[in-house]
Amino acid sequence: NIDFEKASFKDFENIEGMDPYGWAKLWGEYVTDRSKNGQFNYRQENLSGCGPEIELNLPSNPHRNFVSLVSNDYLGFTQHPKVKAAAIAAIEKYGSGAGASPAIGGHYLFHQEIENKIAKFFKRESAIVFSTGYTANSSSLQALLKKEDLAILDMAVHASVYEGCLNTNVKTFLHNDLEALERILKTSKDNYRTRMVIIDGVYSQDGDLAPLDKIIQLTKHYGAYIVVDDAHGTGVVGETGRGVIELHNLYKEVDIITGTFSKTFAHVGGYLVASPELVRFLKFQARQHIFSATLSPASACISKAIDLVDEEPIWMHRLWDNIEYLKTGLESLGLDTGITQSAIIPVKIGDISLNAKICGMLLEAGIYANQINYPAVSRKDARVRMSVMATHTHTQLDKVLNAWEWVIKKTHLEK
Ligand code: PMP
Repeated sequence: NIDFEKASFKDFENIEGMDPYGWAKLWGEYVTDRSKNGQFNYRQENLSGCGPEIELNLPSNPHRNFVSLVSNDYLGFTQHPKVKAAAIAAIEKYGSGAGASPAIGGHYLFHQEIENKIAKFFKRESAIVFSTGYTANSSSLQALLKKEDLAILDMAVHASVYEGCLNTNVKTFLHNDLEALERILKTSKDNYRTRMVIIDGVYSQDGDLAPLDKIIQLTKHYGAYIVVDDAHGTGVVGETGRGVIELHNLYKEVDIITGTFSKTFAHVGGYLVASPELVRFLKFQARQHIFSATLSPASACISKAIDLVDEEPIWMHRLWDNIEYLKTGLESLGLDTGITQSAIIPVKIGDISLNAKICGMLLEAGIYANQINYPAVSRKDARVRMSVMATHTHTQLDKVLNAWEWVIKKTHLEK
């Protein structure tokens, strides 16, 4: 009986198929790779790459190819010929690795180009890139917020934000609860050097949006900074894909914009867009920027992906057509897709075991969707999460809907 919250790795020495959250066991037999002595394995091996349909290494499953609903490559740019060509050309020119951290020889022309492009994308002057979206948040917040400061977090922000706030004071407010946020802003006014309200643009588990205009009214009124991580909104939300910031035309009012290159921008890495002064500070103070290797030359393809959002708006149109198609289809089957306004479509199940069983059944029907359980959401909020791509065909989405219809019949899941 291990208390998983407090466990040390030593507690796991004698546990077969180490699995702190019980995910692997929950997936059940559909994903157990029996060729490996029946060991549970919650990480499915992808054999074919990122895309709307992929090949998985699941010997015990009747299918080899699955409609994939697990990728954040919303516009399908990881397979775009121009993006791939840019990565290949950069590897030919620079080699496979960058060889050092940005501070000590690992900052290349293509990194500078990405920084310039992403700043311009958000109509701002300066940006700094990180090796992941995770460290764009964790490393920069760690540098910015100390013992004298206060981080005010929407409870549903990404794990990387929580990690960035380990060395500062933290107060959380209920997801999108403006009154709770105002209460914290009002009562903490004189007690801290800097107060930073940190929110996501699009939330990663419900796919809903932050009421950015109202939150900025509050931060301005109470003299706090505002940080927006729009990892899931960029390339998806807003007329030209600038995310919730574009929806409210608040480019200048947001103090810090963070995000990732691993979703719409089709590669890996993260960014932070802010004033030149703040970006300069992070070049000296963000530990990841100084002590960890920078993005490899293949990342030069990010520049092309950023350009494509504007050059080929057709992908955003196709994405929204697919979002509407799948969402309407699921709702007409009587499923609860919650409050999503983005490419993330959750189907709330609630019960962890049933959730796992349903994901297993979907796999059996050739559909790979994400099983989201604790700790990504609370234990009672287990859900199947589907991410829509611009490159899904309606035929593939029909296959998803047929699979859900079969699941509903078997499990009596209607609302
Ligand atoms: N922020 C949010 C809101 C995310 O959902 C994620 C990853 N899913 C990240 C940051 C981290 O990005 P990355 O995976 O590129 O490290």
